[in-house]
Amino acid sequence: MLVMKFGGTSVGKPERMKKIADLVSGVPGKKIVVLSALSGTTNSLVAIGDHLLLGQRAKAEEVIVALENHYQVFIKELYGSEGFLAIGQEIVSRFFIFIRLLAAGQFDNKGYRELLAQGELISTELFYQHLQERKISARLLPALYFMSIDENEEPELEKISERLKPLVSSLANVEIIITQGYICRNHRNEIDNLKRGGSDYTASLIGAAIRAEEIQIWTDIDGMHNNDPRIVKKTVPISELTFDEASELAYFGAKILHPSTIVPAQKYNVPVRLKNTMDEKAFGTIITSKGTEGSFKAIAAKDGITAINIKSSRMLMAYGFLRRVFEVFENHKTSIDMITTAEVSVSLTIDNDAHLPSIETELKKFGTIEVYKDQAIICIVGNKITEQKGMLNKVFDALSEIPVRMVCCGGSPNNVTVLVDKSYKEKALNVLNEELFGLK
Ligand code: ASP
Ligand code: MG
Repeated sequence: MLVMKFGGTSVGKPERMKKIADLVSGVPGKKIVVLSALSGTTNSLVAIGDHLLLGQRAKAEEVIVALENHYQVFIKELYGSEGFLAIGQEIVSRFFIFIRLLAAGQFDNKGYRELLAQGELISTELFYQHLQERKISARLLPALYFMSIDENEEPELEKISERLKPLVSSLANVEIIITQGYICRNHRNEIDNLKRGGSDYTASLIGAAIRAEEIQIWTDIDGMHNNDPRIVKKTVPISELTFDEASELAYFGAKILHPSTIVPAQKYNVPVRLKNTMDEKAFGTIITSKGTEGSFKAIAAKDGITAINIKSSRMLMAYGFLRRVFEVFENHKTSIDMITTAEVSVSLTIDNDAHLPSIETELKKFGTIEVYKDQAIICIVGNKITEQKGMLNKVFDALSEIPVRMVCCGGSPNNVTVLVDKSYKEKALNVLNEELFGLK
């Protein structure tokens, strides 16, 4: 069985949605089709929710009206017959009646999460009816029947699998099963979600839960690229990646994939294929456990990073020091990305500085603290690159004109990570592209 996931831009225009219908019905065999909300919808739902939490009902209503109009126009182009247009109108009005009911009630975080779920619920219904109109046999399988997270917001893969397998078996003769990305139930059995961009994660969880043949993530770019196409002029798609390489890239900034996507797929060794809806002939990227060793594969960057340096003579030949430092971050639920140590100091980075003031206050107990905001992590990835001779030279030769604040290497053989001031990010990505890939 295949899992095919289509993102917001792939379903965001009526003609694109029609294209997806061609695509999924053209592939033989059984598949689970995971859809995101139409592009822009989740952002609008977030805006509505934010206004409502602040008690700004009129502003919320403005966004609701604009969004409803968007769907009215969308269905006029999506459906060909009067009959199905009427069905589309029923769907849209039912959703917007519900959204207004949510808005009129006691709006709290629970209501907010329910509101956010409406995007995927409506896109899958509209798509299902489009298939009905074209007489393509399919079924809707609500993600809320099987997708769940625990009290730490971690997906419950084994439970998901136990629920999903019989549901899929009950649809034995159905070739196209449609479900929602992103949405789930939490440990209180309330509607919740897998965080922004979470539809990729849904696809991977489903693929792992049913041990699919392959998980396909369809976007509007021809696979993972060797560098950030928004910053570097010339980039090339990478045809093959290992799970480890892809995870590093997704985590350190490659926007094409939600960072957690690889985890479930890797656990059950289900290949993940990235494909382009706009160019289905393009090879895309295949992510598996096997890889060719020793060559640079890609570079990714993540900014909005804060570096913290803690200098303490108490660290000299002492044990337990790092534990106490880490405890400060743990107590503030702030995760650490990079870390380097010297005998009397330790530097580390965080990407969420919401608790920085209190973290700083607590760290001051240990010694002198320096904080550097607006940093960028540049991550150079390739299977076992750090185990090859001369690979580090190439990286640092390329960066010879750029001041590097931190270097991390050796934690994994698959990447070298450097921290630079954000103002050097563009230059760093460009020189590395030229020196490591010969692209300019
Ligand atoms: N619709 C959700 C979002 O925009 C989930 C997704 O598209 O992956 O974040
Ligand atoms: Mg996405």
